[in-house]
Amino acid sequence: MASSLGNVSTQPYFLKTPDPQLIPQQRQQHNEAVYAYGEYSMFILMWHIEDYLAGACQRCPYCFGEKNPVEAAIEDAYKQAILNKCPQCFGTTYFQNDAARLGGLKARIVRPCMWNTADVTHDYVQQGEVDSSTSTVQSISDFRMRSGDYVFRADQTRWRVETIQTDFIISGFQAASDINAMIGYTYPGCKQEEKTSVAFIIPPEPSIAGPLLNVNPALNYPVDFSTWEVINGELIADDFVVGP
Ligand SMILES: [Zn+2]
Repeated sequence: MASSLGNVSTQPYFLKTPDPQLIPQQRQQHNEAVYAYGEYSMFILMWHIEDYLAGACQRCPYCFGEKNPVEAAIEDAYKQAILNKCPQCFGTTYFQNDAARLGGLKARIVRPCMWNTADVTHDYVQQGEVDSSTSTVQSISDFRMRSGDYVFRADQTRWRVETIQTDFIISGFQAASDINAMIGYTYPGCKQEEKTSVAFIIPPEPSIAGPLLNVNPALNYPVDFSTWEVINGELIADDFVVGP
């Protein structure tokens, strides 16, 4: 049977229009819940290869730049930095040359978040006994972490983001993405880092970051952490575009 809608064999009579109010409202309620029951943590957004390819950062001049012929040969052969724990790019090999502060970081921001830390387990590995722990971290919606980024907690522990889960609401018939339908981001399976991790050379030191984040006595209004914050790139990259 011919149809004005082409050759699709099942067609509904009605396609629901997306509700443009619903998503910002839900996002706001989620943000308020995190502020009501959360705690402050410091979120460290690292530079990644996508940023480099997009021209937002350059190669790190300290560990990936000018070097002697032997170092250059190593770099050329292995396509990796000659320095393992570079104090400028913190191991990513990316650096923004025109950044006013901390060019090795895409951003360092303080945001409220909620943790559900699992119990610490003790493992015997090559390096001896290590404590390991994982947690899900949930924060507000004005930034998005990627795997390999770090979270510094008020208890002076430091955590590596492993996976990202976008919570979103579909309110009608539309091409939904994690930008236009997003309520917030959750980071399941964040892994607690060892003291030897490169996470511990990112300033400020845990003894400074800990008391800063552990706001005590608790205030009934948000604290201004802007003097500690550095934003050298987009907090949420790759905006959704309906194409082509
Ligand atoms: Zn470097």
